[in-house]
Amino acid sequence: MSTIHAAVMTEPGTIELREFPKPTIGEDEILLKVERTGICGSDKHMFAGHMKLQFPIIAGHELVGVIEEMGPKASQQMAIVGGPIAVGDRITTTPSSTACGKCWYCLHMPQRPTLCSDRYVHGFVSSDVAPTPRGGFSQYMHLTNRSWIFKIPDGLSSEIAVLTEPAAVATRAVERALAPGIPHIAEGLGMDKSVLVLGAGPIGQLVVATLAHIGTDLIIASDLSESRLQMAHQMGAHQTFSAAGSLEDRLAAVQQMTQGVGPDIVIETAGVPIVFKESLDYVRRGGIVIEVGHFTDPGGVEIHPNVVCFKDLDIRGMWAYPAMQFKTALSFLKNTKAPLDKFITHRMSLAETAQGIDVTGSEGSMKVVIEP
Ligand SMILES: [Zn+2]
Ligand SMILES: [Zn+2]
Repeated sequence: MSTIHAAVMTEPGTIELREFPKPTIGEDEILLKVERTGICGSDKHMFAGHMKLQFPIIAGHELVGVIEEMGPKASQQMAIVGGPIAVGDRITTTPSSTACGKCWYCLHMPQRPTLCSDRYVHGFVSSDVAPTPRGGFSQYMHLTNRSWIFKIPDGLSSEIAVLTEPAAVATRAVERALAPGIPHIAEGLGMDKSVLVLGAGPIGQLVVATLAHIGTDLIIASDLSESRLQMAHQMGAHQTFSAAGSLEDRLAAVQQMTQGVGPDIVIETAGVPIVFKESLDYVRRGGIVIEVGHFTDPGGVEIHPNVVCFKDLDIRGMWAYPAMQFKTALSFLKNTKAPLDKFITHRMSLAETAQGIDVTGSEGSMKVVIEP
């Protein structure tokens, strides 16, 4: 029997390259040969022990690959978008399986499938639970009949398509600000709006690029890192400022950029509790705050709820995105003018997954991609 390699996180802080039998798929399943998998901030949190999960785990949920084998009934059973699909096609898959369709959330809020209480997520499931591997830091992945499959459009390279998952997060963050907009009377995100993006890591950069893609009038980005602010300019930010100064000075700077009013929308992507508090300080009265950064829980921060009342604010959170957001993300990646090739700063082998996680988030790094 032939074997394959996968990078297994045996516990937080430890990754071992292990051999597995090459997966045998069922008649409604797919065997995916993984081409590229991006390292996400949540992989870093997992490695640092910030997430309560059942180890060992083959992490990795931002991936593109080529269909190596396909059961005869896979096309009927799976959720396939942009298809039809065949052996040899390039595809990506959402981390989340299809929703169950039967739980309280599926019955009451089918438009928010990530609230489903009976789904699994690629890259976050134990590799002791069959089928395996179900994570991207592996040469192959077993895709069950509950997988979402998105065919990569012609004309979109796999180098860029590996950004589909973070682009889904970014485009949904912007769409959260769009809905239920009545832009011409100053509600929601119209193209004439000002948006402040806090945090210029991979998600913040893609949010900036998304805003530029839809033609937002004023895009402001803030981060501690000067090199990240420079990249934000390349992604389409009109103004940037360092997050290092006093809050008073930063508020004054943003006021000056927005005609003394404050930004219409603030999108928090830093994942630092104090930055959420500052989002409420920056946004204008009647504005919208989108909270994207806190996928894990780094603790709390004191806020004055009076600000929410006084400013008449809309605060909108998001837990990932509906699977169909991948269609939006692929369209964005295919059509954006942002120089996304500059975005991938490191390419590494499967054996270097732990180093890749170390490098992620460090000065000078943006997206680190593993090529199994
Ligand atoms: Zn991710
Ligand atoms: Zn459900």
